[in-house]
Amino acid sequence: MKKLALHWKIIIGLILGIIFGLICSGIPGGKEFTIHWIKPFGTIFVNLLKLIAMPLIMGSLIKGVADLKDISKFKSMGIRTVVTYIFTTIVAIVIGLTIVNVIKPGEGISSETVQVLKDTYAADASLQDKLNTAAAQKSNGPLQFVEDIVPSNIIHAMSNNKNMLQVIVFTLFLGFCLLLIDKKKAKPLRKFFDSLNEVVLKMIDIIMLFAPYAVFALLASVIVTSNDTSVLMALLKYALVVIGGLALMIVFYSLCIAIFLKKSPLWFLKNIAPAQLLAFSTSSSAATLPITMERVEEHLGVKNEVASFVLPVGATINMDGTSLYQAVAAVFIMQVLWPEGLIFENQITIIITALLASIGSAAVPGAGMVMLIIVLDSIGFPKDLLSIGLALIFAVDRPLDMLRTTVNVTGDATVALLVNKHQKKS
Ligand code: ASP
Repeated sequence: MKKLALHWKIIIGLILGIIFGLICSGIPGGKEFTIHWIKPFGTIFVNLLKLIAMPLIMGSLIKGVADLKDISKFKSMGIRTVVTYIFTTIVAIVIGLTIVNVIKPGEGISSETVQVLKDTYAADASLQDKLNTAAAQKSNGPLQFVEDIVPSNIIHAMSNNKNMLQVIVFTLFLGFCLLLIDKKKAKPLRKFFDSLNEVVLKMIDIIMLFAPYAVFALLASVIVTSNDTSVLMALLKYALVVIGGLALMIVFYSLCIAIFLKKSPLWFLKNIAPAQLLAFSTSSSAATLPITMERVEEHLGVKNEVASFVLPVGATINMDGTSLYQAVAAVFIMQVLWPEGLIFENQITIIITALLASIGSAAVPGAGMVMLIIVLDSIGFPKDLLSIGLALIFAVDRPLDMLRTTVNVTGDATVALLVNKHQKKS
């Protein structure tokens, strides 16, 4: 019998997880059972993925740089990558702004609904947490971002997955210097990283065997901890605008693949599907990174030297789904609470700040909402309405986070393919 493809196994895990979560939500003790006995398997899986991210980036990137042979090739790849990332992000924001302004989901929200959402969520601890995190980030100077990517201690940098860019900077520096020293002297270190790379790839294969079960556990726990569905209905129009925009982004990527690569979008979507499904289940592009790298290199044929640079950088700075969401959410909140702020200048400011905010958003669950606060702040959104504004969209944040993370990962993979095509030519 033909073996079932991995993405089908994950989809089955996902559907069974949702069904199991729904059943457990309805029976006494079901929620506690899922949280104590099922959720840990999802958490262990996510931990395993995060565990291998740093060694994977180091092993793979050193190998990539060492294989380049010519440093000038790297410069053109670097510039191309960043420019393409900025371009796709701007496309995402413009799509988001266009549909939210045309459909106007905020206009149907009654003042009673605002009150209910405010009473339910404005004082929520995790929402307050987001406000505090955003306040801390806001006090940073304009060059803080650049300052932050150069580590002062590599062991310290490697101790936290949030420092992915710092590790990339160190690894690139190490890789380049490895090219500059005597070949004989460079050989042992190159061999070490080559071997590290192979071992980590094997670890990914083994971890992925558990993916369908982990996805079951992750989805079941998302369902039992999700919010009241009556609140979700009030936000349906807003959620559908975000979902519609995200779907258009997938169409945009498919067009890029068809036009620039002359390949079938179905070929692309089929091969990237396991990474998309994991992004959906974990809500974290950082946790999904090892799988994205594996799929892009081994199934979509992108060269290691391209994938090992483009994807880790993309996981941290390229978030098309997140920026589209930030644009829609900011305008939606304004439509409900601050319609006088809906002027053209503010929409332009949203394009710029959502672009910067998506670069600055951490690749972890819920990070997009923190940066949304900064987007709102940049247009002078009244401070006293801020927590009410966030309360408005809080109930649907998790499902939208799952979907925007899927788009973030798909965007990274698309750009890797586009850059790869150009590298092949040069
Ligand atoms: N969860 C998203 C990611 O990891 C970031 C966000 O939009 O919250 O890509």
